[in-house]
Amino acid sequence: MHISLRAKNIQESVTLKLNAKAMKLAEEGNRIFNLTAGQLPFRPSVDFVEHIKNEINFLNSFQYSPVPGFPALRKKIIKHIEDTRQIDFQKSGVNVDCIISNGGKHALSVCFETLVEPEDEVILISPYWVSYTEMIKLCGGKPVVVESSIFNNFEPALEDMKAAITNKTRAIVINSPTNPTGTHYRPEWMESFGQLMKEFPNIHIISDEIYYQLYYFDPKPTYFYQYVPELLQRTIIIDGISKTLASTGLRIGYTIAPKDFVAAMGKIQGQTASGANSLIQRALLNFDFNKMEEFLGPVKDHLRANGRILRDQFREANLSSLWYQSVSAFYFMIDFSHSPLMDNYRKGPTDTTDYAVEICDDLLNNWGVALVPSTDFGTPNAARLSLVLEQAPFSEAVSLIIKFLQGTKKS
Ligand code: PLP
Repeated sequence: MHISLRAKNIQESVTLKLNAKAMKLAEEGNRIFNLTAGQLPFRPSVDFVEHIKNEINFLNSFQYSPVPGFPALRKKIIKHIEDTRQIDFQKSGVNVDCIISNGGKHALSVCFETLVEPEDEVILISPYWVSYTEMIKLCGGKPVVVESSIFNNFEPALEDMKAAITNKTRAIVINSPTNPTGTHYRPEWMESFGQLMKEFPNIHIISDEIYYQLYYFDPKPTYFYQYVPELLQRTIIIDGISKTLASTGLRIGYTIAPKDFVAAMGKIQGQTASGANSLIQRALLNFDFNKMEEFLGPVKDHLRANGRILRDQFREANLSSLWYQSVSAFYFMIDFSHSPLMDNYRKGPTDTTDYAVEICDDLLNNWGVALVPSTDFGTPNAARLSLVLEQAPFSEAVSLIIKFLQGTKKS
């Protein structure tokens, strides 16, 4: 079969490969701690499930929805964004609309297709979510990466952001709270970023807010447009129910952006995927969005508790230098490059090779713990772990990771 150059140029996810290996090892009877999950292991809110059950009785739940989604739900989502982000689109002089897609990933992909011309540059902050680069490349665009690290609490220096801007920059992607670091940018950073964007009136900002409600330490996430509302005229907000309603399999994500942009997204979505799942849209129409916070209460307690386990066990093992306070989403990045373990991999002091895949492979083979190597996130020699596992196995997994980091040989 012929495979297009476009398909050939897309990178296969290292994450999926490692996950497949972890599953195979588990099937073979090995005890595996899988810390790669990008989803909550909980059932969604009972209330929401009840609404799905009720809507299953209606013919319309099984038929096509309008391409951008049911109008009443789109309105409800816009209002929800205004209430939770404390903004008023109309007062900010922007006429927005909402389009509902088959998940946040689909929303982002249609957004890039609508925005990016071949040769356009799109700025990403590393470590970044794995799919941005490939989506941008599929549109013929070029990802330009600005680095952040544990040393600046994963907030890139604004001078670096400014230096990355050229006359080809079409957009900047801001993902806060961030996958894979489990942090969100401080209000001060967001405000300064907003001020910086005023200097570049042609640049669009894609604000991926899929983890917005999943913060478990104050202050809650804020956004640049709350400080500089005029930026809403060129901001595209992405959100969805995958993470906040523990519903990754239901495939509902949405985009709120200026009306003409949403209409153009609708043209692409209409010819490639049509409208999103009607049954779930109808259930969402009747679901009280305020109940999300109630549902997330115990989820946040759980994430906070696992965050503490991580802190305490790292501290006890004298590895505090590898620890930082995760505050949102459900991830934490371990930076191997400053651990004693690195001596087993580096060929010398000047070796800057990325050994993340090899390191994660060894951790899985020798200690039965699966992490996501940072290679896909655009950062070398680190790995993402997920905080969602139950506390007892999570604690056990962390102690195994620590042994591995200390270079302990398995007896
Ligand atoms: N954005 C980020 C940063 C993510 O981590 C994810 C999923 O992991 C998505 C978007 C897409 O979410 P979904 O397609 O499940 O709604």
